[in-house]
Amino acid sequence: MKKKKMFFFHIYFCMIILFGYSIKTDAEKKMDVKNEDLTTSFKVVENEGTKIPLHGHEVDTSTWIDAYQPVHIPILMYHSISSGNSLRVPKEEFKAHMKWLFENGYYTLSPEETFKVLTLNKKPSKKIVFITFDDGYEDNYTEAFPILKEYRLKATIFMIGRSINQKNHLTSDQMLEMKDNGISIESHTYNHFELTALSPNQQVREIDFSKQLFDQMLNQETMILSYPVGKYNEQTLKLAENAGYKMAVTTEPGSATIKQGMYKLHRIRIIPGMTPKWFGKLVENGNKS
Ligand SMILES: [Zn+2]
Repeated sequence: MKKKKMFFFHIYFCMIILFGYSIKTDAEKKMDVKNEDLTTSFKVVENEGTKIPLHGHEVDTSTWIDAYQPVHIPILMYHSISSGNSLRVPKEEFKAHMKWLFENGYYTLSPEETFKVLTLNKKPSKKIVFITFDDGYEDNYTEAFPILKEYRLKATIFMIGRSINQKNHLTSDQMLEMKDNGISIESHTYNHFELTALSPNQQVREIDFSKQLFDQMLNQETMILSYPVGKYNEQTLKLAENAGYKMAVTTEPGSATIKQGMYKLHRIRIIPGMTPKWFGKLVENGNKS
């Protein structure tokens, strides 16, 4: 059975690669994509019957609080949990942020809950936050995941399709383990190209194929797209919706509200050096209505 599944998985990725190469421009051919590595990179996900994944649950909103103003959600944007540049937040600082959320009674949203909050204008709790990580670094598993578990907080990782099982990035096993423990895995496209630099066909490949990849690997309906480097254009918005994503996040600063559009949600960038007090102010200010 496993062999049979692996066979179909290989066929599936061969089709992706063939189609991908057929619509490439000369400029893109120069990019070192190495798609051929894919066929050996993925582990087949066995359907575990009785095991219910956290991701994909129907959300019961019957006890949620109605909001009278459009709800604002602070969507936090982390990348690597380490040190060395302005995108890396050291583990001690990340732990202090999570401790602050825990001690101040914040409710961490899943992607499904975030969708319901925005579309129904209801909240599961007065204080809500949506924690996200871009790029899928391995330290999200080794450093962030134990802290999130310790404080029983949910979070979402935007993974790059081609980075799965690659150096310094998450493995498929790590992704599956986290998915079973409150961490959602969503899409940060396939190659992490800036979408505005691509033709519509190339954008389709980045947006659609990554969704299909995560849908199959994780047995889920992947619902959020994070635009690489926050870049998108009018076509990107339509293509994300056509691909079946229900939301997309940008790097535009501030809290997220439905007024921005479901495919243009803003995020709050968390930078190194933020004290818990500074972090707390950002979360409180982003949690209006
Ligand atoms: Zn990125």
